[in-house]
Amino acid sequence: MFEDLKGNDEVKKLLKRVVSAGRTPQALIFAGPDGIGKKQFALKAAKSFVCVSLTEGLPCGECSACIRSSEFKLPTSGKKEDYLRVYFSSHPDIGMVVPNKNSIYIDAIRDLAAEANFRPYEGRARVFVIDEAEKLGLNQKHAANALLKTLEEPASTTYIFLITSKPSSLLQTIHSRCQMLRFSPVSSGEIVKHLLASQELSTLDAELAAKAAKGSIGRALRIDAEDYRNRRARLLEALRGLASRKGIPDALRVSNEISTQKGPDDFRESIELIESVVRDLLLLQRGSGENLSHPDLINELSELASVVGRDGPPLWIDEIEDLKSNLRFNLNKKIAADGIFVKIAAAY
Ligand SMILES: [Zn+2]
Repeated sequence: MFEDLKGNDEVKKLLKRVVSAGRTPQALIFAGPDGIGKKQFALKAAKSFVCVSLTEGLPCGECSACIRSSEFKLPTSGKKEDYLRVYFSSHPDIGMVVPNKNSIYIDAIRDLAAEANFRPYEGRARVFVIDEAEKLGLNQKHAANALLKTLEEPASTTYIFLITSKPSSLLQTIHSRCQMLRFSPVSSGEIVKHLLASQELSTLDAELAAKAAKGSIGRALRIDAEDYRNRRARLLEALRGLASRKGIPDALRVSNEISTQKGPDDFRESIELIESVVRDLLLLQRGSGENLSHPDLINELSELASVVGRDGPPLWIDEIEDLKSNLRFNLNKKIAADGIFVKIAAAY
């Protein structure tokens, strides 16, 4: 049932057991890092309520109902009016609510609450997936509250699956009404294996992507090794420039590149790249060359580590962590990224 999803063997076993026993919780949180397939797990579990050819309680994945239940036409417009409802798959009993940028709107949750009262049209139950459910919480107490009523007394044929990488951002009242499945990051060895089997990549590139993806297959697949190396090289150059005090314009140019990237994830990934480089500097300053994020750059990084003040890296990491925790608010990326480089320049 989950053969094509990588890693998380324990979760697979558990989920298979409850699904085949017909004991899937009606309100279930799928929690774990981004890009490891939580939504796929949820949609596969959902098929068990619509599949017309169950084998030992598990969905076949091949009947028309199974296939239709994972066909979604989700909005991508970014216009509020397109995110105010449940989107059903080609199967009328499997629906999904998705956020627009940082918000899941209350209207979408109200629609879900209304739909959740209906008996299934074709299947044995209706399943509603709420993607990035942590976005219910941001200035959206009302949306979360609208959901609570449904979670409290779901119709016997209604299942609600919340997908989230930040379970701690969900209201306590939501937690108390749901059970939680915890997913782990996929090991870097498993990611390398998967990349090599599915992509035309050199082992070196696969290892680089796996390391950069930090346990997320989805992210590893998106990483273009050459582009990543280039970005990393520019970043290192900017850091070196700051050390010589001549490179501030250079650093601000890199900052500009970072902050004008399209998606919110691109920006986060760039910030995490900076953080991983700074962490390596810190490790090297402390005399540990093990567990580096960028072992292939050990020479360049060691050189840089020797000219950077010892107070620098721990401070910068604090700054970067602050910035990351503010990312979910609509911060001005340009100012935030400039700020990091200015702080770095000041501490040399
Ligand atoms: Zn089926």
